[in-house]
Amino acid sequence: MPKRELILLALDASPILKLMEPALKAAGYQVAIVHDSSGLIKALAESTPSLVLIGEKFNGKNGFEEAEVMLDRFPTLPILLYAEKDTSNIAKAVLYSGLSGYIYPPLRTDDIVNAVKASLARARKLGDWLRREVKKTTSSLAEKAKISEAERAKLEAIFANTRDGVIILDENKQVVLINNTACQVFKVDESKAIGRLLLDVIAHPEVIALLSRADDQILKNHEIDFDGGKVFNTQLSPIPNVGFVLSLQDITYIREADRVKSEFINTVSHDLRSPLTAVLGYTELIGRVGELNEQQKDFMRRLEDAVKHITSLVNDLLDLSRMEAGFDTRRESVQLENILQQALTALDGQVKKKKIVVDAKIADIIPSVTANPIRIRQMMDNILENAIKYTPTHGTVEINLRSEDRQVIFNIIDTGPGIPVNEQSRIFEKFYRATNASDDIVGTGLGLAIVKSIVDSHNGRVWVESTIGVGSTFFVVLPAAE
Ligand code: ADP
Repeated sequence: MPKRELILLALDASPILKLMEPALKAAGYQVAIVHDSSGLIKALAESTPSLVLIGEKFNGKNGFEEAEVMLDRFPTLPILLYAEKDTSNIAKAVLYSGLSGYIYPPLRTDDIVNAVKASLARARKLGDWLRREVKKTTSSLAEKAKISEAERAKLEAIFANTRDGVIILDENKQVVLINNTACQVFKVDESKAIGRLLLDVIAHPEVIALLSRADDQILKNHEIDFDGGKVFNTQLSPIPNVGFVLSLQDITYIREADRVKSEFINTVSHDLRSPLTAVLGYTELIGRVGELNEQQKDFMRRLEDAVKHITSLVNDLLDLSRMEAGFDTRRESVQLENILQQALTALDGQVKKKKIVVDAKIADIIPSVTANPIRIRQMMDNILENAIKYTPTHGTVEINLRSEDRQVIFNIIDTGPGIPVNEQSRIFEKFYRATNASDDIVGTGLGLAIVKSIVDSHNGRVWVESTIGVGSTFFVVLPAAE
C-alpha cells in the first residue's frame, strides 16, 4: 500500500478545524495538527509533510509571515492559506508571497479536499519538472567532464611527446609542467623539477639571463649552446593568467649547415679576391697604353663599376666570415656620437642628392661603449645607407642617439616603403632581400647580416619595427662600458 501523504494543519482550534481533519482523513490523507510556531517548526523538522494548511491568523501570529519563513527554508513546499474572508488584498498577498492558494468560508468538505488535491498536483508537476531538469544538467555535466578528461589526456600525451622542449612556468617562475625533451636537454628529473623555481632547477647562465628579462612582456628569443655541441633556439613568452612558456627547438643541424655554407663562402671569396684585384688593375691600365674611343671608355667604366660591385660583395662576405669565426677581437672605449657624426658627414652627398631631410637628435651625455670603432662605423653606415636608399626623394630620416639603464640606444626612423611583417625577421639573414626592395634599388642583401653580426659580437641587440606605407625604424642597443 503506497504511503499516505501527510497534510500539516497549522490552525487554531475552531469549527473549521473540526471539519477539515475528518474530511482530509476520509480522502485518504494522513493529518497532523500543530497549534503554535514552535510546534510547526518541530513538525517540519521531524516529518516531511506534502502540504501545509495555515490559518491567516495562527496562535496570535500573522499566517503570511509564518508561511514566508517556511518557504525560505522549503521553497517547493505547497502551502495553502485559510483566510477568514475573501478580499482582493488577500488574493494579492497570496500571489506575492508564493503560496499555492487560499481557501475561505463558507467551506464544504469537498472544497477543502479539492483545494488540497489541486495544490498537491501542481507541486508534484513542479517536482517532476525539477527532477527532470536536474537529471538533464547532471548528465550533460558528466558528459562534459568525460570529454574534458579525454581532451586532457590527449593534450598530456602531445605535451609529453613533442620533440621540442617545453617548460610551463607560473607567474613566480616555478615549474608547472616540463616535458621529456626539456628534461633530457637540462638533465633534470620531472618529479624533482615540478613546483620548484626554474632558477633552482636549471643552472644554465643563458637561461638565467633569459628569465631575468621575462617581465619585459615581449617574446624573447635566444640561441643557446649546450655541452656536446647542441644548439637550441630558446623562446620565453608570457601566457596570460598562467605565467610563461619556455620552448626549446633543436637547431643544431641549421647551425652546422650554416657553418659549412660559411666555410664555402669564405674559401670562394678568398680565391676571388686576387683575380678581381687583377681585373680592376688592368681596367685602370688599359687607358694608359693607348687612346680609347668614347664607346671603349664607356665600356671600361661599366666594367670597372661591375668589378667594384663584386669586390665590395666579396669584401662583405669576408668580413662576415671573419666576424662569425670570432676573429674580430679589437675592443676599445668608443664614443658613438663621434662615429655617428663622421658617418653622417660621409653620407652628406647622397642625402643632398635625394633632397632628404636628416634630423639627428644626439643626447648631451652618451656613455662610451667597449667596441671595435671600425665595425661600429660599418654598422652605422649600413643602417644609415639603407634608410637613405629606401627613403624616396624629399623624405625624412630621423636619428636618435641616447642612453638608458646603462645601455646606449641608437634608432633610425625613415619614411621609406616599410617592410612586410612576415619578412621583418628575415631581413637580417645573409642575401635576404625583402619583396619591398624593387629592382632599381641595388643591393646584395648582406648589409643587415653584417649589422647583426657586429651587434651580436658586441653583446647588443638589433631589431626593426616597420609599417608598410609609413616607414621603418631600426633599433640598435649596445651595453655601455663598465
Ligand atoms: P640590401 O643590400 O638589399 O639593402 P640589406 O641586408 O641591407 O640588403 O637589407 C635587407 C633587406 O631589408 C633589403 O633588401 C630591404 O628589402 C630591407 N630593408 C633594409 N633596410 C630597409 C629600410 N630602411 N626600409 C625598407 N626596407 C629595408
